[in-house]
Amino acid sequence: MSDDRTFVIIGASQAGGWVAQTLRNEGFEGKVILIGEEPYLPYERPPLSKAALLGEVTVDSTYFWQQEALDEANIEVRLNTRVTAIDRDAKEIEIEGGDRIAYDKLAITTGARVRKLPIEGADLPGVFYLRTMEDTLAIRAAVKDGATAMIVGGGWIGLECAATLTKLGCKSIVVEAADRLCGRAVTPEISDWMYKFHTEHGVDVRLSTGIEKFEGNGQLERVVLPGGDTIDCSIAVVGIGVIPNVELAQDAGLEIDNGIVVDECARTSDPDIVAAGDVTNHPNDLLGRRIRLESYENAQNQGITAGKAMLDKAEPYSEIPWFWSDQFDANLQMIGLPQDWDETATRGDEASNEFVTFYLKDGIIDGAISVNNPRDLRVGKRLMQGKKQVTAAELVDPETKMQALLKR
Ligand code: NAP
Repeated sequence: MSDDRTFVIIGASQAGGWVAQTLRNEGFEGKVILIGEEPYLPYERPPLSKAALLGEVTVDSTYFWQQEALDEANIEVRLNTRVTAIDRDAKEIEIEGGDRIAYDKLAITTGARVRKLPIEGADLPGVFYLRTMEDTLAIRAAVKDGATAMIVGGGWIGLECAATLTKLGCKSIVVEAADRLCGRAVTPEISDWMYKFHTEHGVDVRLSTGIEKFEGNGQLERVVLPGGDTIDCSIAVVGIGVIPNVELAQDAGLEIDNGIVVDECARTSDPDIVAAGDVTNHPNDLLGRRIRLESYENAQNQGITAGKAMLDKAEPYSEIPWFWSDQFDANLQMIGLPQDWDETATRGDEASNEFVTFYLKDGIIDGAISVNNPRDLRVGKRLMQGKKQVTAAELVDPETKMQALLKR
């Protein structure tokens, strides 16, 4: 080996996996060690609340790279391994049991963990969270046709789960603390559409509602709502958001502010440490502000950026945020994080569940959400990227070819 350096990655996730692959793709010949706490190789999370929960895919098929591909790239993967500390002075990490591994460069891709519901009975068997493969397999094993499933939180996890559990024959009830669904991610009109859509598909959605406690004799049997009403149920899935896993970085003295603070090239305040994925707070040039993004695309592309930065080939990373979700027969996609639009334009028909709503600021697209129309959304992303002037009237007009707007 012509390079005797060791690059270590904490977090065998999507972001961590992409850091490792990027090091090899860019020609790094030193040692690459990818450390993960879970027993699985880096896997895709989107199927966890959909195809994997339905039992339609195997665990192996969710892996980004099979073991042979990682072996071929000479990436040493250590699973079931928990890192307990980063010693920046010695440039070593410590793993549970006390072993230490020296690094020349370090990547932190520790992701996020679920926010727990601090109420009585939340540790009863039958109460689940959904973040990991283990969680999905446990829910899948507990689901029975005809069961009532209580879903706490009407965000992405809650709504995808409600759709999947309904497909599996459960009666799904969603309780959401806020007065609308997915309030952190979508606009009020889209929340209304989601409410109608899920209700039409048989989901019982209850807004402005929390749960007082879970009850059962050694197993979840019911939930108690504020006011004392009870609902019998045999499973509950809690999806009330995630918390970035910053503790290792924080204890090591790295700068933290709603995530590990990194620059546009994924570099932390330590020149030998990068970070990527859900755990980072990074500047987004296109949005003109710092963000912490919990998204698939960000985990991959910021991971690639971090890998390059470790090799001193830093390239600024900035992308229009993009998300998608599949719920029943609706494919939702979102671009941007629209905040202060002055006009909206809906192209297509909300009632037929096929439309795109654009959010405009001074005649420029600031974000958009599509339902079953990814094609127009993609063009919208290019219009947004190019900061093209458009009018709401043009966007809503079915006679307007979206592609034509790009030619301005
Ligand atoms: P989320 O999208 O932030 O939604 C959590 C929801 O739960 C929010 O609407 C929140 O309302 C509500 N909530 C909070 N406390 C509650 C309580 N005590 N009782 C009832 N409702 C409560 O988070 P998530 O659905 O848990 O998803 C976790 C992560 O996975 C996110 O990063 C998400 O983006 C990601 N994910 C993404 C996808 C996708 O992109 N398709 C799919 C699944 C998961 P407030 O906002 O009012 O607190």
